[in-house]
Amino acid sequence: MIVLKFGGTSVQDTDAVTRAVQVIRRQLSRGEVVVLSAMGKTTNGLLQMARTASSGDIDSAWAIRDDQSALHETVARELLSGPRWKSVETSLAALFQEMTDIVQGLYLLGETSPRSMDRVGSFGERLSTLIFSEVLRENGIPAELVDSRDLIRTDDHFTQAAVLQELTRNCVREQLLPRLRAGKVVVAPGFIGSTVDGVTTTIGRGGSDYTAALIGAALDAEDIQIWTDVPGILTADPRIVPDVYKIHAISFAEAAELAYFGAKVLHPSTLTPAIDRDIPVHVCNSRQIDEPGTFISAAPVSSSSPIKSIASKRGITIVNILSTQMLLSYGFLRRIFEVFETHETVVDVVATSEVNVSLTVDSSQELEAIRSDLTEFGEIRVAPDMAIICTVGEDVKATPGIAARIFGALEGINVQMISQGASRINMTFLVAEETMEEAVRLLHNEFFRQPDPELFEPVE
Ligand code: ASP
Ligand code: MG
Repeated sequence: MIVLKFGGTSVQDTDAVTRAVQVIRRQLSRGEVVVLSAMGKTTNGLLQMARTASSGDIDSAWAIRDDQSALHETVARELLSGPRWKSVETSLAALFQEMTDIVQGLYLLGETSPRSMDRVGSFGERLSTLIFSEVLRENGIPAELVDSRDLIRTDDHFTQAAVLQELTRNCVREQLLPRLRAGKVVVAPGFIGSTVDGVTTTIGRGGSDYTAALIGAALDAEDIQIWTDVPGILTADPRIVPDVYKIHAISFAEAAELAYFGAKVLHPSTLTPAIDRDIPVHVCNSRQIDEPGTFISAAPVSSSSPIKSIASKRGITIVNILSTQMLLSYGFLRRIFEVFETHETVVDVVATSEVNVSLTVDSSQELEAIRSDLTEFGEIRVAPDMAIICTVGEDVKATPGIAARIFGALEGINVQMISQGASRINMTFLVAEETMEEAVRLLHNEFFRQPDPELFEPVE
């Protein structure tokens, strides 16, 4: 059994949906669960619609709704025959009516809450899967739509809900195994879930990858395929480096570092369920469905190119705590981290000396509150507009002189907060945001002048 996930661009129009159907058709004998994102940029549109309505501009909200309605109707009409279109038309009308009622409510109340944003955001995946499952049936594929709100159980941390793992695993198995045994191709919306009381939640932007991995892990799938609009995992961000390479194979550990530190291909949580149950993940190109993408598995991939990829992430703030309290004391770091925990802020990179702790955060909303809570520990300095650069490779640990090559290549660029995890597969550091692109290009040039052809392929 395999799980296939198609992202927004991979179902954005009639051509994309047609290619996705082809991908599904040729793997039918394996048994399939298909997880979909919302079509194209639908989620952005829906959230924008909710905000405009609540700010009093109902006409703009209806304009967004009508655009969405036209997009979904066009694809459904083009791909479905008469009677099937009729039945989908009725279901689409019902969903758009529900959406209209909610948006009207937000307009009257003049406010939105994270809970109502999730309710509105859920329509994108509900619409795409409604149409897609019917299109599969139109093509003779025995598809059945299952609402992921009956599968993915979460807490009530709306817009970023945390998945309740055991409950979710049980729900997925209970609902999907009998259908798969009956030969059905299950279609399920990504991104959405519900609390135990049945209130609609979402698991964070870009979360459909994570939905696919959760379902794959619950079913002990043989493969999780992420179909997206890029060739696979690349050696750097192609908007920064023009001559990037696609990587054929990479380990879970490497891919996790990359997803976390800015590579946009995979949602950072995606790999956790796959790693837990040792299920390989394939990143595949939905525009070129015959090309192999990137294969991610537990096996370390050795190569003559010690660095596999360079990830980069803007919008980082360094928080620096200068304190003599840390000298010979214990519990100090715990108390500092507690401040970040209280403000629900994720810390990415940490570097310490005996009198100095530096941490990085990427959301600046809570920063003032964090700064003021930290003052009891010492002198606080905050440096905004920084960028993280993370070089990743299993062979980093076994290759002498890597650090010298990295920092040698960066001559003239000011590097701060160097950090290397104990697993030693990455080397991470901070630079000023305006020097980030140059730094990535210099590193790419240093490590990918002649990359191992077994593992790296140029991207046109
Ligand atoms: N549709 C959601 C989003 O745009 C989830 C996803 O695409 O993975 O964030
Ligand atoms: Mg995505």
